Amino acid sequence: MIFDFHVHCFPDSLAPRAVSALADTAGIIGMRPLTDGTVAGTVKRLRSAGISGAHVLNIATNAKQTTNVNRFAASLPSLSGGFMVPAGSVHPDCEDKERVISGLWDAGICGIKIHPDYVGVNIDDPRYDEIFALCEERGMYVATHAGFDPVSPDHFHVTPGMMLKIIRSHPRLTFIAAHMGGPSQLGGVLDLLAGTGICFDTSLSSIREGERGDLIKLFRSHDPDRFFFGTDTPWSEPGKEIAFIENSGLPEDFKEKILYKNAARLLKL
Ligand SMILES: [Zn+2]
Repeated sequence: MIFDFHVHCFPDSLAPRAVSALADTAGIIGMRPLTDGTVAGTVKRLRSAGISGAHVLNIATNAKQTTNVNRFAASLPSLSGGFMVPAGSVHPDCEDKERVISGLWDAGICGIKIHPDYVGVNIDDPRYDEIFALCEERGMYVATHAGFDPVSPDHFHVTPGMMLKIIRSHPRLTFIAAHMGGPSQLGGVLDLLAGTGICFDTSLSSIREGERGDLIKLFRSHDPDRFFFGTDTPWSEPGKEIAFIENSGLPEDFKEKILYKNAARLLKL
């Protein structure tokens, strides 16, 4: 069984615009979208790669969008015929974070995704700290983008040092860094975060050929229960992301944890 922990899609009415805007940014580093960004198009592509379910990471890029983004998130399980499990979103400038987070929990959403580079706020800002404290208290997880993102190529809003501070001040929080802790900062991830309580998603590993050795090193120096397989669809080829894990040389039971079992435990699949 394979569950994809890192997927993006949009309401049908917004998908063409959202995908083309994101493609303009991603095009800077030569990435092109591989789905139309709709729920149906995304499910079809992932199913054809042998993936049996997906965690959809929605991101409110301004405080006003929060309600709509979370309403869409809550509708995803039924829109996708049970294929999709949503994460919610909370913007750091959102005025009533406690109400938003309780609302997500009541809607059956047990975690959130944040993207500090899209929002333009460093992840160690006190406004994010409030969100982490609320999620830690409720037992909700936080997934974040980490490292290089073409939307902010010269300033990384989520660095290994910042993440270390967060997991130290919120030891009970399930904190998940995308892309194995982030493109272009793997040295710092290995030095500061390997062996800690942080979790990683594996999305985009297949396109990081020059870093393959260090990615495998990270798997081997960290708790096998703390990795989640992801593709970052529409930005990566699901089959290649699966092949990266299959060909990693890790023991079979480790690969099963990465590809399915860890997500099943966290998301109660
Ligand atoms: Zn992503």
